[in-house]
Amino acid sequence: MDCIFCKIVAGQLPGIKVFEDARSLAFMDINPRSDGHCLIIPKTHSPTLFDIGMEDLAAVMNTAKKVAMAIKASLAPDGMLVYQLNGRVAMQLVDHFHIHLVPRWENDGVDLSHGFQPGDLDKIRAVAGKIIEALSA
Ligand code: 5GP
Ligand code: ZN
Repeated sequence: MDCIFCKIVAGQLPGIKVFEDARSLAFMDINPRSDGHCLIIPKTHSPTLFDIGMEDLAAVMNTAKKVAMAIKASLAPDGMLVYQLNGRVAMQLVDHFHIHLVPRWENDGVDLSHGFQPGDLDKIRAVAGKIIEALSA
């Protein structure tokens, strides 16, 4: 199947991974809306909320909470935007279920209506390292 997120799960495409368990994977978004922008996915392919099974959804939500707490501990955001899109009309671009965690700071200037801006890979890796450290604390 030609799915970029399935390829990241399989290690066929690079991904900056921060956490995984049997059913779910958390990795850094390559076009981060803010420092620490993570995606949480099921390891098994499901396109949308309408398709995903309850066990995968529970695992993904559990991981979202775990990673959100690690982002809070390591990056000290003022808040966090959590979102999940279904279908082109809702602006879903990658057809593999994913939850976005976007840490927010006062006056950070994040504007979701702006298109993608490729992130600096070294900076994304450095932020991922902080999140990983908080996850193992
Ligand atoms: P959507 O609009 O489908 O909710 O968002 C898809 C997200 O996947 C976007 O935030 C985009 O930056 C991210 N993305 C797209 N391709 C890749 C990739 O190859 N690697 C990573 N890490 N993120 C990606
Ligand atoms: Zn997939």
